[in-house]
Amino acid sequence: MIVVMKVGSPEAEINRINQELAERGLTPEKIVGKHKVVVGLVGDTVDLDPLQIQEISPWIEQVLRVEQPYKRASREYRHGEASSVVVPTPNGSVSFGEQHPLVIVAGPCSVENEEMIVETARRVKAAGAHFLRGGAYKPRTSPYAFQGHGESALSLLAAAREATGLGIITEVMDSPDIEKIAEVADILQVGARNMHNFSLLKRIGAQEKPVLLKRGMSATIEEWLMAAEYILAAGNPNVILCERGIRTFDRQYARNTLDLSVLPVLRSLTHLPIMIDPSHGTGRAEYVPAMALAAIAGGTDSLMIEVHPNPAKALSDGPQSLTPERFDRLVKEMSVIGKAVGRWSEPAAVLA
Ligand code: PEP
Ligand code: MN
Repeated sequence: MIVVMKVGSPEAEINRINQELAERGLTPEKIVGKHKVVVGLVGDTVDLDPLQIQEISPWIEQVLRVEQPYKRASREYRHGEASSVVVPTPNGSVSFGEQHPLVIVAGPCSVENEEMIVETARRVKAAGAHFLRGGAYKPRTSPYAFQGHGESALSLLAAAREATGLGIITEVMDSPDIEKIAEVADILQVGARNMHNFSLLKRIGAQEKPVLLKRGMSATIEEWLMAAEYILAAGNPNVILCERGIRTFDRQYARNTLDLSVLPVLRSLTHLPIMIDPSHGTGRAEYVPAMALAAIAGGTDSLMIEVHPNPAKALSDGPQSLTPERFDRLVKEMSVIGKAVGRWSEPAAVLA
């Protein structure tokens, strides 16, 4: 349920209403939008009569039921307004969301050694990326495949952050690792394979770093939004949704089917920012640029692109990784579409 306040409602009145709602056993959550203040109510609202709530104050404009099972993640919960996820980085704050320019995340699948991660960070920054991605803990299909360097790779990510000022995105696979990863990462990634790991979602929702939630490879949009709801319900409002391709019947040519229809669908269902990952979405470097450009045209808020200094030698996901040179060219191509849809701001590294 949401309580929409009239424009200009006094702060003291909103607080009084919240207190009264809390006394009725509800958990009111004040959401300050661009135009209006809305109070979100989750809990046992089934038997509540919206008209009764309306009577609490003449400053209440409307009381509406949120129909979807994902309450906090729904677009209605913010009365139709998109939210922003603002991430402080050494180079300044970067904002993800519908009202902001496109955010570019790039880097290798795995952190392999200091030289390669620092070099890749420098190259992607010079091309115009805002964040460096790189896995320390890797979820691999085979237990015999490279599992990531783990904790030692975290200090290499810290070195790349220090050298470039780029924000860091890296994956958390297991709850006990959250704290040490959060010391280095600016955004914590939950991978496709862990989207249904509800205890991890609860734990990651209980810490403060923003979360990048990848879509499970066989997850419906509703299941994905319910996974986001776990994080939001645990107290962390900063969730970005990342489409990374789903399983369909044809895996002969592309690793996954990149579902770009999520762009308009999510936009109508949720206020959360959206990221598209054409690297895992296609599995082939030569298909990545076309899908990246299509995603910008379709209205994505951000992109994640795997880049490796020598894809043929990569310890994971080489076939889908762009070379730094190809990435550089891609950013120039992206700027054409980005400008056409009004979502481009020249990255600081490029202006410098
Ligand atoms: C990754 O980002 O390298 C990764 C493993 O992604 P996903 O969880 O989407 O497979
Ligand atoms: Mn990868």
